Amino acid sequence: MSLSIRSAASLVTFEGDGPLRGEELRSASASPAADVNCDGGVVTSLGAPEASKDVFDATGCTLVPGFVDPHTHLPFYGWRADEDAARLQGTRYETIHAEEGGIFRSARLLREASDDEVLDFSLGVAASMLRNGTTTFEMKSGYGLEVEQELRQLRLAKEIAARVPQTTRTTCLAAHAVPKGETQGSWVGKAAAEVVAVAAAESLATACDIYVETIAFYLEHAARLATAAEEHGLDMRVHADQLADNQTASFAARWNFRSADHLNHTSPEGVADLADSETAAVLLPGATFTLMQAKKPPARDLVDSGAIVALGSDFNPGTSPVHSMPFVIALACRTYGLRPFEALAAATVNAAYVLRLEDEIGRIQEGRRADIVVLDAPSFDHVTYRPDLNHVAAVVCGGELVYVAPGAEGRVKRA
Ligand SMILES: [Zn+2]
Repeated sequence: MSLSIRSAASLVTFEGDGPLRGEELRSASASPAADVNCDGGVVTSLGAPEASKDVFDATGCTLVPGFVDPHTHLPFYGWRADEDAARLQGTRYETIHAEEGGIFRSARLLREASDDEVLDFSLGVAASMLRNGTTTFEMKSGYGLEVEQELRQLRLAKEIAARVPQTTRTTCLAAHAVPKGETQGSWVGKAAAEVVAVAAAESLATACDIYVETIAFYLEHAARLATAAEEHGLDMRVHADQLADNQTASFAARWNFRSADHLNHTSPEGVADLADSETAAVLLPGATFTLMQAKKPPARDLVDSGAIVALGSDFNPGTSPVHSMPFVIALACRTYGLRPFEALAAATVNAAYVLRLEDEIGRIQEGRRADIVVLDAPSFDHVTYRPDLNHVAAVVCGGELVYVAPGAEGRVKRA
């Protein structure tokens, strides 16, 4: 099916190939009066309109690459709004976590829910993410906390992947919290032998992840899991330096992990090590916002020193119930000091790199997968300027018009 998006006020994308570093992050090209033609799932040409079956009239709109969310905790079941209310009364996350709240509570909710309940809940969120322009997202296990439940969560992620229009990738985060009755070492041993090995054999995941923090695991466990991941051909990622400086960013860079995520407490040495590496620095301002953390990541230093900076939502029911990438972009600019085009690059090109999808997605370019967001705004500036408004008029996944916002139906002409 061919599609032509016509007469946009502007089109913002990035030239070239691969991830962007330093000043390249600001190198977006914004061209006026753009037309984009798609066929066979990819962009076939930019510039002049071509004959096509479907037409979307984008007059007055801005086109950007579909947003890539490289860090979510879908699939899960149920909200934890009461914990957030407790936090707003002054309770710390470490306390909630210790009192059978937090991850342990989500593990119980997942265990008690049927597969259909988890799928309905998670697919509802994925649909809302699509309405906010997310055309690719990552999912994780980590609420299983038992071998069988971890594998169940990975299989549910596979089911979600088959049912959504978005591109997805799944990560095995068996080392999310230390289950009751286990030590860090005993659980990481089981995770490696019984979860990671099966996940790899059944193609349930393309990466492994671990939560390194004093309330979870240590670097020695990350090393052990990284060895297992490498054995099975999976990428390694890590929740790094979120609550304290555990020197996890430097460790991730030295071990050539695909990404180090959070980085609130990362030191100048950690920044330099990431900048010298191929390890992406994934910033998650939704978690900083939700936890009301005073300590922000050294985001400007990461950009200026040349690290591969990416942005994600960290969407989860506890520490970041935030699923809109435009909102994440606005937060990154207002609270982390990123410039708007840097944040856009971090939420598209570099986020695709985290998921090893940088050759296919992240840019609006001839020959690439046609994942495009039509913003009902004359320039990208409106995303950061009016963060509480959903500007998305339409979403294109693989060259198909998969979402048209209420009020924008009149812009569509179908063959
Ligand atoms: Zn996370």
